[in-house]
Amino acid sequence: MLDKYVDIVCDKINAEKKVYLAPACMETVIISKMVFDKCGKFPTALCDNDIRKHGKYLNSIQDMQIVSFDKALETKDSEFLIVSPHHSNAIMGNLVYERGIDSNRIINFQPLEKKHTCALMAQNWIVEDRHFVCCCIEEYKPRFNHHNLDPKSGIESLDEIRNNIIDGKIPMPEGCVNCFTNKDCYIFKSRKLNSFDFSFRGWCNYKCDYCSSNKPDLKGYNDRFSLEEYLIELEKRDMINDIFSVLFAVGESCLNEKRFGLYDYCQDKKYFLDVFSNCSVFDESLFNVAQTSPVIIRKSFDAGTPETYAKIKGVNCYEKMLENVHKYIKAPYLAFNPKYLFVPGINDNEKDIINFVNVCSELKIDFVTPVFSFLDSKYFDSEHAKQMFKLLVNELAKNNIMTANVDTLYSETYHKVYSGSFGF
Ligand code: SF4
Ligand code: SF4
Repeated sequence: MLDKYVDIVCDKINAEKKVYLAPACMETVIISKMVFDKCGKFPTALCDNDIRKHGKYLNSIQDMQIVSFDKALETKDSEFLIVSPHHSNAIMGNLVYERGIDSNRIINFQPLEKKHTCALMAQNWIVEDRHFVCCCIEEYKPRFNHHNLDPKSGIESLDEIRNNIIDGKIPMPEGCVNCFTNKDCYIFKSRKLNSFDFSFRGWCNYKCDYCSSNKPDLKGYNDRFSLEEYLIELEKRDMINDIFSVLFAVGESCLNEKRFGLYDYCQDKKYFLDVFSNCSVFDESLFNVAQTSPVIIRKSFDAGTPETYAKIKGVNCYEKMLENVHKYIKAPYLAFNPKYLFVPGINDNEKDIINFVNVCSELKIDFVTPVFSFLDSKYFDSEHAKQMFKLLVNELAKNNIMTANVDTLYSETYHKVYSGSFGF
């Protein structure tokens, strides 16, 4: 389906139409590259409602600018392709029902319905060791029985319960009722999912203090889990949206013995394959997927010097990791997303932050994700944390690097403290 949209965008650009991709995110950057490779032209621009991005150019595609929706709408017949695992529905709803544009101007428009519910619960799910869980970080998020890890009966029951909650036939889980994302929102009438994530525990060759994945007995632990079998069941039940993301985070994903089938499946279907990796090994098979199909690698850097990196990760692997990252970014359809998890007293200092930003700049990174989510709110409420956060955001901005706010990684408290006032 993604190929079809790339063709449509090419046809429209060739016919001198203005076509905007929205929002400005890793998914739309990769699609822009696919469009260029298909027809030798980039889409008109990326479009985003974040005023801090307006007027900026991407580092990875130096001639693509980010503009506001107001600007894009100045041309009466401009068109849009909207691709975001967590926000497509909201952006389409805003353009069509609030700004009143003709839905035919959205190339991938689908009918929406307005509901008082949580859009993440409607459209984004994770399978983990013990349950299906909604793709959000809240402790009180809904958990559904995964039927002993049987993909068929598990997906069937997930679909039924999720729809019944949306329709008010089953009450929302208690914690969700007052959650900040439970509100009037647009969701797809088809009730198809935008993303499905694999977050089983798994083995990792790093030894980060805050993580339990480095236990030797976790080697082979994933054997009992299914991967692409879940996607096949979702397909059979017509639950997969025409542009779809699959997130793979199972210890060190690129050492997981079962990954190949999943990679092949995503490549074949052109799903966005979104992989969490520490990049200690270079996964040739992942690199090969990104020759023809979209891949995002999310990598926790959390340091700007080899010493800090070794302290946090428990292994001395900074140079090797950087070498691998330089190799990965050569793949045509690979977006690289560095994360910076603040670890109090270790990487919350000027030297690490500035070195980290320099590395990102050299890699021509477009989006960095700062993360506090695993930390006590007392830390991210401290003056020092705020100062260091501000330094990180400002230094990134000086290098034309935007901060990607991954809603599903942040709690409400975090949003309250860091949204807006820190340029994030
Ligand atoms: S906890 Fe909040 S974000 Fe998560 S599913 Fe419930 S309402 Fe949605
Ligand atoms: S690199 Fe990631 S998965 Fe591996 S030990 Fe560290 S936090 Fe855990």
